[in-house]
Amino acid sequence: MDIVNRSISLTTTSGTDILDITGLVQREIADSGIKEGAVTLFIPGSTAALTTIEYESGVINDLRKAIERLAPQDIYYEHNERWGDGNGYSHVRAALLGPSLHIPIIGGNMTLGTWQQIVLLDFDNRPRQRKVLVQIIGE
Ligand code: ZN
Repeated sequence: MDIVNRSISLTTTSGTDILDITGLVQREIADSGIKEGAVTLFIPGSTAALTTIEYESGVINDLRKAIERLAPQDIYYEHNERWGDGNGYSHVRAALLGPSLHIPIIGGNMTLGTWQQIVLLDFDNRPRQRKVLVQIIGE
């Protein structure tokens, strides 16, 4: 049993940036040499999230609109009064989607569906440097 810790660094833009990181994660798994096990992905920070979706522009826009309906940018947030950073909506959106994913690895590949990609969602109201932690456990 091995544990391999890696990270993926990305620069994001403001305004619900949604990035497909599937290939970057798969490359880390290939480099690790682990064929059977699982990968945990975690994004430190309280204004970004990880999920899976079909990375196709129509459904990406549908997701953006659904998130806007759930936690609209232009309503009142107590957080903005406290900090004045204007990103109350970003924190709420990130909390709803969650910061981590856990994906089984079989035969050296993640067990994703054919139309299922791993995406990083950055909800912050300014560009950010993000680091996704990639912990691969197995043999
Ligand atoms: Zn804030």
